[in-house]
Amino acid sequence: DSAAFDREVQSVCPFCGVGCQISLKVRGDRVVKVDGVNGPANEGRLCVKGRFGFDYIHHPHRLTRPLIRRDDAPAKGLNVDPGDWSGVFREATWEEALDRAADGLRGRGQQVAGFGSAKCSNEEAYLFQKFIRQGFGHNNVDHCTRLCHASSVAALIENVGSGAVTATFNEIENADVAIVIGANPVENHPVAATYFKQFAKRGGKLIVMDPRGQALKRHASHMLQFRPGADVALLNSIMHVIADEGLVDRQYIAAMTENWEAEREHLKGFAPEGLEGLTGIDADTIRDVARTFAGARSAMIFWGMGVSQHIHGTDNSRCLISLALMCGQVGRPGSGLHPLRGQNNVQGASDAGMIPMFLPDYAPVGSAEVRQRYADLWGEEPLAEKGLTVTEILDAVHAGDIRAMYILGENPAMSDPNLDHARAALAKLDHLVVQDIFLTETANYADVILPASAFAEKTGTVTNTNRQVQMGRPATPPPGEAREDWTITQELARRCGLDWAYTHPRDVFAEMKRVMPSLDNITWDRLEAEGAVTYPSLSPDDPGQAIVFADGFPRPEGRARFTPASIIPPDEVPDAEYPMVLTTGRQLEHWHTGSMTRRSKVLDAMEPEANCSLHPSTLRRLGVPAGGHVRLTTRRGTVTLMAREDRAIAPDMVFLPFAYVEAAANLLTNPALDPYGKIPEFKFSAVRVEAA
Ligand code: SF4
Repeated sequence: DSAAFDREVQSVCPFCGVGCQISLKVRGDRVVKVDGVNGPANEGRLCVKGRFGFDYIHHPHRLTRPLIRRDDAPAKGLNVDPGDWSGVFREATWEEALDRAADGLRGRGQQVAGFGSAKCSNEEAYLFQKFIRQGFGHNNVDHCTRLCHASSVAALIENVGSGAVTATFNEIENADVAIVIGANPVENHPVAATYFKQFAKRGGKLIVMDPRGQALKRHASHMLQFRPGADVALLNSIMHVIADEGLVDRQYIAAMTENWEAEREHLKGFAPEGLEGLTGIDADTIRDVARTFAGARSAMIFWGMGVSQHIHGTDNSRCLISLALMCGQVGRPGSGLHPLRGQNNVQGASDAGMIPMFLPDYAPVGSAEVRQRYADLWGEEPLAEKGLTVTEILDAVHAGDIRAMYILGENPAMSDPNLDHARAALAKLDHLVVQDIFLTETANYADVILPASAFAEKTGTVTNTNRQVQMGRPATPPPGEAREDWTITQELARRCGLDWAYTHPRDVFAEMKRVMPSLDNITWDRLEAEGAVTYPSLSPDDPGQAIVFADGFPRPEGRARFTPASIIPPDEVPDAEYPMVLTTGRQLEHWHTGSMTRRSKVLDAMEPEANCSLHPSTLRRLGVPAGGHVRLTTRRGTVTLMAREDRAIAPDMVFLPFAYVEAAANLLTNPALDPYGKIPEFKFSAVRVEAA
């Protein structure tokens, strides 16, 4: 009887960046039910993951004691059953495991790298990056933001001076036009999507642009299903019309921006009539969309990984920023730029400095003034040289430069864009320490595995896509001997010679406040009492600013910048051998590499099998019935899986969710990187599809 419970604890959903507040109903040591709470982002609403995706925390596969690789273990590879690891690992005491873990890291300086995770709380993320920087004297620390919105953040920092959203998604209530591009919020940000639907219902014009059709189409005033990879051409042609027809906000451009003349000149070459073949969208539709957006009283732009995960991902975001700026649609109610952040704490983990080029609050590692601030706080100055990113670290392992890694909650053996390359790198390491709640694919390669805590077992703050810092609270104890993650990192740091003596995440938060102006007026006590505060908060009573940059941007002279973007074709265009386009992404029921949701009974029952989506005409051509099996092959690899019929997908495309280890999407994807955000081109690979 899931209705009977002894107590309830308020926390935050561990999945997407919406950051829904939840009430965990607990009986004994078990969470038996989850309900929505009236948090600022969800007002009581939850999606199927938030409501039913919690029972993985009690799964029998949970790691409950530290593990050490056996001396007689087989060669490292994907050879461990997460339910029976005894032939590869042996149980150890915490003392032995921590000593072993630290022995392999201590004193190795540049040979060590760290992968953290957006699943970390803000305090865990801060400690993790501090451990790598202070403990090993360099900046080789990164996390999964590199694989999702790094290009968006690069463009935002470059052009508006800050990587976070300029307005919360709830501001759509004050808009009359909204663009959603390269995002599928009904599946990936489902509670945010409810606000978008309400917006359309009350007459707001919803412009959806995506190479893949989607459920939000039913609510859209305009649906532009453009050719994959044609984002820059599409957006520049919309901006061309706005500039050409004199629909720009001249006053705003003059007062608040720079480099408009260069942008205007650049856009002259993008008349929509000449780009129909490239974009797949007729010029009349482009002109209608341009006039609709430019004519808005207040307009917002939302985007997702369909924009960011390209070799031109930074250019895509530059275009979206320019579109908003030329129409003066930043800094007022119902206006703004909002990259929909993927994970529940990808914003916070990035803010806390778990990235190789920035210290907390995006303070550049190259700044002498910034390094002095950290020298005062940490007792030593961080290195000025930027560190390596996620994919560069694995290249450095192959080159023999990185020999040891500490991986906290990340699963590169499933998430890296080039899995064979990543798995070979993990196998090659002298020493790998993995801290996680399950024996993940990455933990298969570990020398030491440290059993960590699930979200419902620990205290810590997380920051959602809206810049809302929220308090996560423990509802149950960790299973067996598993520990809260921050305590494990601290134990390793002490063994590596650092004089750390934090007694609670509250202490870490207090230290973060000393170097993170974004946390001004936000205290641990406030978060305990109020549950959430949006940054920036202007006073101890201010719940936080939903909209920023009304009076200028955190850039020279307070001006935002136009950065023109040219068309760069996808890295790998289809040809006779690989004639179709592969795109990857998430689906509603499963989360990232599947380690949590595939161990959740309800979610696994809803989506039990690896699948891809193909247009009915493609299935007919292949002679494969809906539900039959197909083989997908790219230049990197092959997977075989069930094919689902989906009219929303173009006949020359295949969509592949990346949660399934038995048909791992990233065996196929193209690891080519965006040169600015260093993000891989997950959204476009040339593929051959055959009946299996
Ligand atoms: Fe959790 Fe996101 Fe669903 Fe909210 S919308 S319940 S945060 S997965």
